[in-house]
Amino acid sequence: MSDKPEKFIDENGIRLDGRRADEIRPMTVEMGVLSRADGSCYLEWGNNKVLAAVYGPRELHPRRLQRPGEALVRYRYNMAAFSVEDRIRPGPSRRSTEISKVSGEAFEPVVMTQYYPSAVIDVFAEVLQADAGTRTAAINAATLALVDAGIPMKGLVAACAVGKVDGQLVLDLNKPEDNYGDADLPIAMTEDGDITLLQMDGNLTVDEINRGIEMVKKGCEQIFEIQKAALMSKFGTIEEEEVLED
Ligand code: UDP
Repeated sequence: MSDKPEKFIDENGIRLDGRRADEIRPMTVEMGVLSRADGSCYLEWGNNKVLAAVYGPRELHPRRLQRPGEALVRYRYNMAAFSVEDRIRPGPSRRSTEISKVSGEAFEPVVMTQYYPSAVIDVFAEVLQADAGTRTAAINAATLALVDAGIPMKGLVAACAVGKVDGQLVLDLNKPEDNYGDADLPIAMTEDGDITLLQMDGNLTVDEINRGIEMVKKGCEQIFEIQKAALMSKFGTIEEEEVLED
């Protein structure tokens, strides 16, 4: 028997988890949580728990994969076997391979790969607990792990999904909305609002997609603020120290 809720949004416009249509779930981040990685970030978003680690830049082997004028950004998204309700079979799957590919590409416009010819920058995103929106959660954590590793970037990348339930667009789908909703549209973007990842599952009209993108932009603005607050608390004192020394 399906455990699809009868209604996703009540008469007051409130969703099953108490949010309004345009609200994202609470997000907390912590940078530098792994001492053996060059950069890392642990992120919680609603009930999602994600760890991102960055290694590199370092020389890429085998050498035939090296790019003479730039570094290769290699992104691996992985769901831990215990991260979902039904245990996931360990190892790569079609889904994780696809998510890894498009997530890595989402960073292409911002990572300044030209400074590290023939090198590789490895990004590992490990989903420890999944509750819908893990690819976007992983991208938000990976951005901070890249900065933590000191990788030069033109700006940050944030990601959030929008979807449709009960005929209405809703931001940052929770698990029942993702499972039983009519559409899921995960998007990543730069601080300038340039979209670097867009996938779609389900059906939306062109007008709904355009309105959905606007909702995601607002969600990503909030995520950029959270990311910047984390950066300020980790690195924000450097300038103050310099001023004191002068
Ligand atoms: N999920 C699962 N088993 C899987 C894949 C996904 O239980 O093999 C769950 C998990 O909670 C995930 C959600 O379904 O967050 C939505 O998956 P989707 O493929 O839409 O990716 P996501 O929204 O996590 O980026």
